[in-house]
This record gives sequence, C-alpha cells and structure tokens, in this order.
Amino acid sequence: MSENPTAVSGLLVPDMGQPIRPKLLLVDDQAVNIQVLYQAFSADHQLIVARSGARALEICAAQQPDLVLLDVVMPDIDGYEVCKRLKADPATCDIPVIFVTSHTDEAQEAHGLDVGAVDFISKPFSTKIVRARVNTHITLKRQSDQLRSWVYVDRLTGVYNRRFFDDRLKSEWGRAARNRTPLSLLMLDVDYFKRYNDHYGHQAGDMCLRCVATAIQEKLQRPGDHVARYGGEEFACILPDTDLAAATHVAQAIRANVFAARMPHLASDLAPVVTVSVGVCTKLAVQAGTAHDLLCQADVQLFAAKRGGRNAVCAAVLTPSAGL
Ligand SMILES: [Mg+2]
Repeated sequence: MSENPTAVSGLLVPDMGQPIRPKLLLVDDQAVNIQVLYQAFSADHQLIVARSGARALEICAAQQPDLVLLDVVMPDIDGYEVCKRLKADPATCDIPVIFVTSHTDEAQEAHGLDVGAVDFISKPFSTKIVRARVNTHITLKRQSDQLRSWVYVDRLTGVYNRRFFDDRLKSEWGRAARNRTPLSLLMLDVDYFKRYNDHYGHQAGDMCLRCVATAIQEKLQRPGDHVARYGGEEFACILPDTDLAAATHVAQAIRANVFAARMPHLASDLAPVVTVSVGVCTKLAVQAGTAHDLLCQADVQLFAAKRGGRNAVCAAVLTPSAGL
C-alpha cells in the first residue's frame, strides 16, 4: 500500500478509497509514557517516537506525521514551545497537535490550546477516549487535506498550482527574512512549447507537461522544496535555505533530467527532444528586497537562458536596488 498516495507531500488524501494507516508522532521524555501510547496505537497506526522537543521538530519537518501526541514537560524544549514552532512554520503548521500531560488545571489547558493545539488530554487517561479523540482529529485532517489538495493542486500535472506558489513564496520569504537564511527560486520554461503543441497536438502537449513535472519532482529531494505550475508551460520551484550554488546545482539536475527523459520534439531547433530553460535567483541570508523582486529577477534569468540559446540555466543573486 502506498504511504504517500498523492503528488503533494504532507497531505493525507486516500488513494482510490484505500485506507492509509495514519502516521502518529509520540513525543515524551519518559519511556514508560511512550510505551502506554505505543500499545494504544501500534495495531492500526504507523508510529514514530521522539524523546525530546528538538527531535520532535526535526521529525515533523522531515517526515510530516499526520498528528502529534505531545508531552508538555520535557528537559530541552517544552511542549508549548514545540507546538508554537510547529504552528509558525508553513511546512508543519497543518499538523494537528494534542497535548498529553499530567497537568490538570484550566490555565495550562487554555495555554495549550492558545499555542495551537487541537486538544488537551490529562493523565491518567482512558485508552478508549484517547483513541477516539485521535481518530476524530485524523478524520478532520483528512478532510482539510482533501480540500487543500483541491484548492492547491494543478489538475493537469498533479503538482502545486499558482495559488499555492503565491502563498508559499510569501510565507517562505517572511521565514527566510526572520531566520536570516537564503531562499532560492527557480523559474522554468519548456523550450519551443508552442511548436510542440502545433506539431503533436494539445493532448500530447498535456502529456509533455506531466512528464516535465515528474522530471522536476524527481530532482527535488527535501520536504521543504516545492514545485508549482506557474502557468502555461512555465513551472516554479521554491527552495528554502538554499544558496545560489546549491540552487544552480538543482536547476542543472532538473534540466539534465528533462533532457534524459528523451521526450520526442521534432519541431525544436535545439535537439529532437524536449528541453527546458531555467532561471535562478537567490536571496542571500541577510538581504533587503521583496518576494516580488525575487520572482522578477528569476524571470530575468530565465529570459537570459532563453536568449543564450535555451536548454540552459542562468543564475544570479538578488539585487534589490536594480530598479526592475
Ligand atoms: Mg515529560
């Protein structure tokens, strides 16, 4: 059974009605508490265990669990802080969090809900009740993932759409500015695509775009990297925490992967196969400017790659004062 049935990472959308075993992350510094939860869920859930707040954050970013059962009192980062950080990060903000704790007072529970948890369970608890509550929130997650996939997925290619791209670029720009990390953007265009459609017809053109989308996805390895269909035969990739050299490397790998797919394109002047041109622009760790600047300048680089002969990558660091 597929554990990741959609093209979009992190979404819990069943494929052809097949049930997916939900992926739960259990976070507690005490082994005995983990054991109780493990026994309650191991029969029908995939379980991941973290013994510290720091490890929980790493796992959430890398593995996108469907729900987190989170202890409050832990020696490194406490549960409230873990929850706050998950909710502040666009990559993890949709993962529901339930606190499981021996705190029983109203103020603690209210604080847990304030920092973004969906529920608060006090120890000792009834296994039946915890299972019921977890299942309720998993169902809600499935429903909201389904809605998000309708809103954010390009139906032709299965990758994200322009609406997702616009939202995510804005939030990643804000995050990169706050954390002082680089952010790279790739703009990618299929060479001589109009001629492709004229030569092979629009249905073949649609197939070509699906193949290009797949070739791009194959070279985006990290969970935070995203590709969207920007419009027509144009795609955009957002690469958080990626410098110019690394982004250029990814762009070259995508360009080579599209070429290696050897989709016939007899109407191209370059080669008898489909090729792409890629523009790369990178915001440095500490740099002024706007997400709009980044987009415009990635487009300028794409134009340079086209002008330079196509099937090429052109890259540059963002220049906020360029007056574009
Ligand atoms: Mg504890």
